[in-house]
Amino acid sequence: MSYDADLNFVYAHTHKTVFGANVVKDLGTYVGEMGLKRAVVITDSFLADKTDLLERIKKALGPLFAGAFTGVVPDPTAPSVDEGAAYAKQQGADLLISLGGGSAIDTAKGVAVILKEGGKVLDHEGYHVIERPQTPHIAIPTTAGTGSEATMVTVIKDPERKQKTFIGSYHLHPNLAVLDPTLTTGLPPKLTAATGMDAMSHAVECLISSLGQPLSDAYGIEAIRLITTYLPRCLEKPDDLLARGQMLIAANMAGSAFSNAMCSLNHAMAHTLGARHGVHHGTANGILLPHTMRYFMDVSAAEFVRVAQAMGINTAGMSDEEAGNKAADKMEQFVKEIGLTDRLSSYNVTEDALPGLADVAMTDGTIIYSPKPVFEPQDIMGIMRKVL
Ligand code: NAD
Repeated sequence: MSYDADLNFVYAHTHKTVFGANVVKDLGTYVGEMGLKRAVVITDSFLADKTDLLERIKKALGPLFAGAFTGVVPDPTAPSVDEGAAYAKQQGADLLISLGGGSAIDTAKGVAVILKEGGKVLDHEGYHVIERPQTPHIAIPTTAGTGSEATMVTVIKDPERKQKTFIGSYHLHPNLAVLDPTLTTGLPPKLTAATGMDAMSHAVECLISSLGQPLSDAYGIEAIRLITTYLPRCLEKPDDLLARGQMLIAANMAGSAFSNAMCSLNHAMAHTLGARHGVHHGTANGILLPHTMRYFMDVSAAEFVRVAQAMGINTAGMSDEEAGNKAADKMEQFVKEIGLTDRLSSYNVTEDALPGLADVAMTDGTIIYSPKPVFEPQDIMGIMRKVL
């Protein structure tokens, strides 16, 4: 994006990030440095029962471990967050440690708010409603996608409205993010691909956002380069620690970038498909992204040239629109190459569902950051129809 002399922005980021294979073993030291004594881990039952990840955290924490809430659900619902908060309160938690994908990290952010502010999670809905520091939180991602460990937002599903809603505040950044590639080697191929496309969508969307700014651009472009290079390597060789680590870094950069520049239409549609049809968030983003790029080509071609270049396309001699269309084509090809479905019909989304989906997506909080206003539900239906 080109900027004018009146450019102004805020860039906020998680206070501290540690990266490295096996850094998780030093967790007790990090907690000690924070002066905290009772850590409650927030995770899901699969990670707790079917992997050794929770045991590794417990071992690293030693006597600082004060219990584990294992009731995180995918696309966390408000009642599940309230339940996690009741458990953490009962255990006398002075620190939350989220272990898992975006669902665990977002649950912990909601729990942190309830422990400090009281009430239920939906009482605190909205941006910048939370105005003071919250319960300390260490985020340990086990997927490389959402970048939630680097963002100021939690995404919570309200089952009554059948819609995802948000709490966003600078006080929701975790105090520490621990990026350890040994925690992501067990992620199955479909989830590796899907979560990687969530990060890709963050990176592309922050480049075209109406709130775009130079710092988020830099993170976004590098994230696209890393994902293009290393996501296929994670799929070829799941225990490749270099590739897994580079994907964690890419997801973190893209998360940080969109937390400041915001996502837009692609995420508005993905949130709605997740809330209404259970389409995994990253999968929805991947399916839709090439088509959303084409929809914005009339206003964002110059930004898509940068996407093309970050994906390794030689754009010399091309017009912005030619290069932008090459980027969208390459994105569509990439989604196929990493084995992700490119059809919503795999999730029983039919033509009949499109008007309702479009209406809800129009009310999603992210849509207003689109590079051009999206006024017509028919436009959204048109994009979704292409991938039925
Ligand atoms: P997820 O957290 O829902 O996890 C998906 C599945 O992967 C779960 O069944 C989990 O048990 C499994 N899993 C996680 N790590 C694993 C591992 N290492 N090995 C084996 N299985 C593993 O998926 P996600 O894509 O990471 O998160 C999606 C959620 O994050 C959505 O609710 C979305 O709205 C939210 N989100 C939040 C932000 C934010 O900034 N707060 C950004 C993007 C997305």
